[in-house]
Amino acid sequence: MLDELCINISNRLNTGILIVDRHYNIIMWNRFLEVHANKSDNKVIGKSIFTVFPELPKKWFERKLSSVVQLKTQSFCGWEQRHHLFELSHSRPITTDSHFMAQNCTFLPVEVEGEVERICILIEDVTDVCHYQSQLNKALQELALSNRIDGLTQAFNRKHWEECLAKEFSRARRYKHDLALLMLDLDHFKLLNDTFGHQGGDLVLIETAKKIDKLLRMGDLFGRYGGEEFAVILPNTDLEGAEEVAERIRQSIAKNTIDYNQKIISVTASIGVAIIDSNDTRYEDLISNADLALYQAKAAGRNRVCLAKEVATI
Ligand code: GH3
Ligand code: MG
Ligand code: MG
Repeated sequence: MLDELCINISNRLNTGILIVDRHYNIIMWNRFLEVHANKSDNKVIGKSIFTVFPELPKKWFERKLSSVVQLKTQSFCGWEQRHHLFELSHSRPITTDSHFMAQNCTFLPVEVEGEVERICILIEDVTDVCHYQSQLNKALQELALSNRIDGLTQAFNRKHWEECLAKEFSRARRYKHDLALLMLDLDHFKLLNDTFGHQGGDLVLIETAKKIDKLLRMGDLFGRYGGEEFAVILPNTDLEGAEEVAERIRQSIAKNTIDYNQKIISVTASIGVAIIDSNDTRYEDLISNADLALYQAKAAGRNRVCLAKEVATI
């Protein structure tokens, strides 16, 4: 009577219940598992759990169960550790990443006269939890990215770029590595805006950022410093190397025109180059030096690269 009641209740539960003996043969399972494994009772009862569920990691599983038997304590395996043990279907296969139900599994020792004769495995469907957690992780990643990226040009924003510079500066000082900085300002951009409108100006910013980004190496750090000003940190780069990069960028901007509303927009850039030297105590010194060189490039007629060293000796 009580047995029948227990079976009735277990068949109505929204959790899988599976009991195995010490030889891993299945003694009992409930309706939840029958439905989600899509197998009938007669193909399961009395069979080895490894035959019915060949996907189980055998060695791991045997070790898990033997610790439950020996220690006579329950054990747990959550979805964050293993997404699932049993390949069971779930009710939202389209909206989630996995074909199979995410599971929290609990292994309970069933004692008979002081000995663990059987193990009861509870399988809880946590597909929703897993799904919402992965949505949340994705949203957090996007948020972290948007905190670092300039929305228009996709370059690093000023705040993040300066944090990068601060780190690179102290690393270069500590290990006595080279470090170069390019400050780039588009020429006569106000006039460009007045001629083509702000949308035309925005397109020039987007396309210019793409061009610069393509010309850089993996470890270089490219940011939008202000309106039409960009900045590039070049780790492990000396003045000669930095000048080369700056010249390549300058030429690429000057050479490649931009199509906008059946009009062709030409733009040029002035670039100031500075490298870390022993007088620089703060990263802001490096920015000031590159800025000075940029000012010099503007004063000398624009569309050119000017080196901070040259400025210093003028
Ligand atoms: P110079 O050659 O001396 O650098 O002259 P300039 O006209 O480029 O310099 P100025 O600082 O006078 O003008 C910069 C212009 O950039 C003015 C501002 O409206 C424009 N600007 C700043 N941010 C944006 C933006 O996001 N989009 C557009 N379209 N224009 C911007
Ligand atoms: Mg400017
Ligand atoms: Mg400008």
